[in-house]
Amino acid sequence: MRVTFWGVRGSVPWATAASIGVGCNTPCVAVRDERTGAQLVLDAGSGLVGLGQELAGGASGAVPVLLTHYHWDHTQGLPFFAPLYTRGLRTEIWAPRLGAIDAARVETMFQSPFYPVPYAHLPSRPVLRCWSGLEVDIGVFRIRAHRLRHPGGALAYRLRGAGGDFVYATDHELGDAVHDAAFAGFVRGARAVVLDAHFTPAELPAHRGWGHSSWRQCAEFALAGNIGELWLFHHKPGRTDAEMAGIEVEASAIFPNTRAAREGVSFEV
Ligand SMILES: [Zn+2]
Ligand SMILES: [Zn+2]
Repeated sequence: MRVTFWGVRGSVPWATAASIGVGCNTPCVAVRDERTGAQLVLDAGSGLVGLGQELAGGASGAVPVLLTHYHWDHTQGLPFFAPLYTRGLRTEIWAPRLGAIDAARVETMFQSPFYPVPYAHLPSRPVLRCWSGLEVDIGVFRIRAHRLRHPGGALAYRLRGAGGDFVYATDHELGDAVHDAAFAGFVRGARAVVLDAHFTPAELPAHRGWGHSSWRQCAEFALAGNIGELWLFHHKPGRTDAEMAGIEVEASAIFPNTRAAREGVSFEV
């Protein structure tokens, strides 16, 4: 499968000239099964807007969007997703049941006064699939989930690929021994892992309980586990391209096969 980053930034798509090289859109990752051409979209942050433009320009059929949780940075691109306004494309929103979330709650994103086009009036209204548990099959994709340590909850996903597994684990706070051990078990042996590296080690002490990790925690976690490559993700808004390059060097000194996720970059699993 081919994994492409469309949004790599956490919290808010604050664009600055100094950080635009890495990219300023919030989380959205496209996964494509190259044998069948099937697509899966992970998260619906502002990065979804660019992906939607590309999809609306050519593809047809189903476009499943699998959400990790409902914080704005993971859902704010949804009303602006071009396939919702394009006949011939059928968007499926795969919404995990976290707490009291249900289909009606997802529809509120489109309600006045928040948005001018009510959900029921969308030209290509998406199908909402609320699901529970820790396993879900979406078309050709076999997906296992893991509960992350994040306010309100969030899910990590592990997808089986031809050359190994891909793990997408954003919005997670490492540093709790019990959670870390369970998470290490979930990630073990994966070919490529995307991890939440929102903070620097210096920023971390003032942000305990915020549900995010530091790049150092990610690198040390990768070193301890049996994984192929680490992708630092959910970068703090405003973190500059130069700072990200420095973080990449420092993290690679701990776990050599480390890269910072950047918009437009893709890799094979
Ligand atoms: Zn987030
Ligand atoms: Zn979150």
